[in-house]
Amino acid sequence: MRRMFTAATAALTLTTAGTMLAGTPGQAAPTGWGRPVVTAAPQPGAPGLGDTYFPDYGNGGYDVEHYDVRLRYDPASDQLSGTTTILATATQDLSAFNLDFLLDVESVRVNGWAATTTTAGAHELVVTPARTVTRGQQLTIVVRYTGIPSETLVGGYTGWTRTDDGALAVNEPESAWWWFPSNDHPLDKATFDISVSVPTGVEVISNGVQPRPPAAEAGNRTRWIWRTTSPTAPYLAFLAIGQYDIVTETTPGGQPVVNAYSTSLGALGPAARASIERTAEIVDWESGIFGPYPFEAQGGVAGPVDGIGFALETQTRPVYGPGFWRRGANTYVVTHELAHQWFGDSVSVADWRNIWLNEGFASYAEWLWSEEQGEGTAQEVFDFAYASYPADDEFWQVLPGDPGAARIFDNAVYDRGAMTLHQLRLAVGDDAFFEILPAWTAEHRYGNGTIEQFQALAEQISGLDLDDLFTTWLFTAGRPDVATTARKATTAPTAPKSWVKISESHDLLSH
Ligand SMILES: [Zn+2]
Repeated sequence: MRRMFTAATAALTLTTAGTMLAGTPGQAAPTGWGRPVVTAAPQPGAPGLGDTYFPDYGNGGYDVEHYDVRLRYDPASDQLSGTTTILATATQDLSAFNLDFLLDVESVRVNGWAATTTTAGAHELVVTPARTVTRGQQLTIVVRYTGIPSETLVGGYTGWTRTDDGALAVNEPESAWWWFPSNDHPLDKATFDISVSVPTGVEVISNGVQPRPPAAEAGNRTRWIWRTTSPTAPYLAFLAIGQYDIVTETTPGGQPVVNAYSTSLGALGPAARASIERTAEIVDWESGIFGPYPFEAQGGVAGPVDGIGFALETQTRPVYGPGFWRRGANTYVVTHELAHQWFGDSVSVADWRNIWLNEGFASYAEWLWSEEQGEGTAQEVFDFAYASYPADDEFWQVLPGDPGAARIFDNAVYDRGAMTLHQLRLAVGDDAFFEILPAWTAEHRYGNGTIEQFQALAEQISGLDLDDLFTTWLFTAGRPDVATTARKATTAPTAPKSWVKISESHDLLSH
């Protein structure tokens, strides 16, 4: 993926009272058994989840199960209005709690009672319920709102992309702020019902399946309805609104496939189709390596020519910018975004510092696809990638295991990240390596993971101490020595056939 609001960290202000809560929402601290019960006054929920890079992303004190996002959108004005109903459980006694949100809020109700709201920090909506919330209580939070997302700026930035014929809500790591209130961190996943009313003739594509066909509404409007029943991190929910040709199919395994192509693509359209229409085939191939596909639907969206310049692994249905098709079909970017369905979407980072768990793995999937397609073995891609960055290149100064908030999408996270996995594969052998990958996706399915947990699993399966390997490749500046490359040092490796597509994809995905 690609565009980022880096001012968030600089502008960080934690103005809401309360201490930072580390750990997973919903995992309340154990109570002291057999001790006298001490009743503390309810406190405000924390304004963030204590992420290393983005400490005010997400909120403490509650855990969301479901979002019902019901919107009305007008492409001509970019006016967005609607109601989001959030089903959540309080994980502490709460006098107030935060939602991450930017649009103008008309009202908030908590379990039917009108609540008061204020704003704080860069993107915090502080909700004070009429009645104190007790730990374990079920919450129904109804937020009514309106706004023009493309003109709603934080530090001069909007994650909402307005286009000639509609809009894209596609961004990482912040996208939800501009279209629905949320607990915006991968630690708090939920299911989604998303529906949008638009003028008839406009298409709306989102995550999951369509439980009903688009339904006509008064005023020559149509409501599009989407549902995703798998746990989803808020930033992986998306909207693509505009003029799209939609292609539906069913996989041999019975999964619905929904692909959509912006009509603005013109001459780029055939290359987009020749790439995205291979989604089911690539998912099937990846399932054989990474384990069972985790979700209920598949697909892809080829965005418009005036939309995004990157691609994003939006859950069940990645969205691709037009740049990937400028030199013909590119199945490498499709392989990359689909690999994220396992690495990033089903198994999400527990902290954004662990971004290697997403980008290193999705990039290595491309190397495996190169091998599968006969366009260069993973070893050949490794040799070329390694040699293409001289030892004094700035590239080697970025640590894939801890790149810093402003560099979570640095090229090093992708390319050195993939090199790290190749070194792991060489160290443990193919049998262990291809046992580690599906074990990881099974163990953390629909949850979160850390680099430390991945290393522990790799050590457990391989029986090897891998501390030197992980420290050298993920956490140490400088180009690591590699025996296999040193052996070939007299002749520069030639570029594998796949390299032109892999490198041009990474030019758009990373920065
Ligand atoms: Zn990626």
